[in-house]
Amino acid sequence: MNKALFDYIAACPTPYHAAAHTGRLLEQAGYIRLSEGGRWQLETGNGYYVTRNGSSLLAFRLPEREFSGYMIAAAHCDSPCLKIRENAALRDGAYVRLSTEKYGGMLCASWLDRPLSVAGRVMVRTADGTAVRLVDLGDPAALIPSVAIHMNRKANDGMAYNPAVDMLPLYSADRACDFRARIAEAAGISGQEILASDLFVYNPQPGVQWDAFISAPRLDDLQCAFAALTAFLQAQPGGSVPVLCLFDNEEVGSQTKQGAASTFLADTLVRIGSCCGLDGAEHRRRIANSFLVSCDNAHAVHPNHPEYADKNHAPQMNGGVVLKYNAAQRYTTDAASAALLRLICREAQVPVQEYANRADLPGGSTLGNISNTQVSLNAADVGLAQLAMHSAFETAGSADTQYLARALEVFYGKTLQMNDDGGCRLF
Ligand code: ZN
Repeated sequence: MNKALFDYIAACPTPYHAAAHTGRLLEQAGYIRLSEGGRWQLETGNGYYVTRNGSSLLAFRLPEREFSGYMIAAAHCDSPCLKIRENAALRDGAYVRLSTEKYGGMLCASWLDRPLSVAGRVMVRTADGTAVRLVDLGDPAALIPSVAIHMNRKANDGMAYNPAVDMLPLYSADRACDFRARIAEAAGISGQEILASDLFVYNPQPGVQWDAFISAPRLDDLQCAFAALTAFLQAQPGGSVPVLCLFDNEEVGSQTKQGAASTFLADTLVRIGSCCGLDGAEHRRRIANSFLVSCDNAHAVHPNHPEYADKNHAPQMNGGVVLKYNAAQRYTTDAASAALLRLICREAQVPVQEYANRADLPGGSTLGNISNTQVSLNAADVGLAQLAMHSAFETAGSADTQYLARALEVFYGKTLQMNDDGGCRLF
């Protein structure tokens, strides 16, 4: 399974590639592509998917019989990286560097002294408008060199990285090089005009499995995305509509037209309901009997710094699904939703562990509570324990992807009836 995960990560250097690649995998499994700008006619028994901005994706399957609600698992498909700016080539001295800025809260040091590549989307002119082409240089195309220890003797004493100075990737020794032309060639559009682009510097290093661990780029959150996709494709039909959500822009706060704070999920559920002949009241009744599992990786206890973990809430890699708690509800998990998830994991024979930030350390945020502001659902936040979150090369447990996939497979097959007080019937 981890080999397949590494292949998925390699095929998804950016959210655009993640949406396109996931769409291809869904189509291979018989799913039908829908367009938000088109009319939908849905048939029971069929599976569908829809993308927004080409970088977020929702997939769902209509059961043969009347459904009670939506069983939704969501992950994010963006990761911290460097965004290449419009006028990309910085020519000075003997070098050409790339003009970049940080996308998300990256661990800067991990991005230095390693081969990096460039991927994203470019917009080209067509006869009557514009079209998107995905591009991935694949091969090493840039590198951010450290300053030698001899020139900065304090480099090991808490380095401050200035994104406008220290994080600019070296691109070429040829001052006459044409970055745009290389992108156009890689996108297969030689001779056509690139009108605009969204390009990112990413880590192309393949994932590796070693001892009981996996190390790879973008495990946060493609490990959860892949587990959710696997579960979604394998799940047996139940009395609910299973929904898979991959959201872009979690690393920059989700507040975009395609992020978890957008109307994408709410709009899609409304359209499914209306295609199935549900009126507004009936749609809301189905929403009340729905559940969202927000899947985003969690912090494993660090081997060199166990003091950063809360003593009683320090997840281990290979310890199974992590339920994430936060009193301020930045994680949506509460007693009602945790109890439901525990039943699911028990049936799937998947171990459960708990995470909470040390009470004196602010934690990160994720997409569950943000999504809930648009479509309010019973929800829990889960993840898989990992080290070095937001490093260019992260580490997680080799058994955990399978654990989450198994738990979500059971989840997707369930029918839920919520009681007013947070209790439920789950069958
Ligand atoms: Zn994440």
